[in-house]
Amino acid sequence: MKTLAYQAAQFNANQQSREINLLNKERELYIAQQMVKEREYTNMLMFVTILVGGLFFLGILLAVGQMQKRKFMRMARMDALTGILNRGAGQELGEDLFVQATARGGDFCVILFDLDLFKRINDSYGHGTGDWVLKKVADFLKSHIRNGDVFARIGGEEFAILLPYANEEKGMEVAEQCRARIEAIETQHSGHKFVITASFGVSGLMADDLSLDPLFHRADMALYAAKSCGRNTVVRYSEVLKCDQQATDLRRYAASTSIS
Ligand code: GH3
Ligand code: MG
Ligand code: MG
Repeated sequence: MKTLAYQAAQFNANQQSREINLLNKERELYIAQQMVKEREYTNMLMFVTILVGGLFFLGILLAVGQMQKRKFMRMARMDALTGILNRGAGQELGEDLFVQATARGGDFCVILFDLDLFKRINDSYGHGTGDWVLKKVADFLKSHIRNGDVFARIGGEEFAILLPYANEEKGMEVAEQCRARIEAIETQHSGHKFVITASFGVSGLMADDLSLDPLFHRADMALYAAKSCGRNTVVRYSEVLKCDQQATDLRRYAASTSIS
């Protein structure tokens, strides 16, 4: 009887120890599973962080590249000295605006101006002062040019102002204001005291005009007439002949007085 009870107790003890072992194994298995899950979660987090970081970095690279591209494109369109549009960009933008305006039946006006006796400024005060004058003239007029109009440096000391939806009358008004503004520029900050003046040629749209070229051509003729009219003045295309006549008369008068 005693032996039987001992064997039963031993069996129970063995059974309990097997169950404890089993529970311990299950616990270890559970801990291992938890660790695997945690590792998976950490890996996932790392993957997402790297992905988001990579995309963010790529985004920044693309944005910087885009900004650089835009900056270079802007620089290619700008005149380095004055910061306004250069000849090519001014003409290209002008042609677009011309097509837009004329397609809607609107007017268009071209103003060309050239600084008077600019070579004399360079020769008398140096090239640095000449550059200062070009910058100053562009700065002074920039603020005066309407949004939507075009202001460009088209040559050494020659500039163009293009006025979409403006007739020749309006162009004359703008040109006269610009002429007066240039004449009023204080030059003592350049280290020298002198007066800056410019001659202006203005041409409005005519019935046969299909592009900007004829307007530029007529404004150029008017500008040359303004030079021969004595400079520091505004001449419209319709006054070119009158002005040329005046110049011829003056030349004749000068010639006749020098002979006599
Ligand atoms: P006009 O009244 O007939 O226009 O006479 P002008 O002396 O202004 O014209 P001209 O064509 O004889 O001289 C233009 C001068 O402009 C010659 C050139 O050296 C100078 N010039 C052109 N571009 C620049 C520039 O970027 N900077 C400076 N300082 N001078 C320039
Ligand atoms: Mg000149
Ligand atoms: Mg010139």
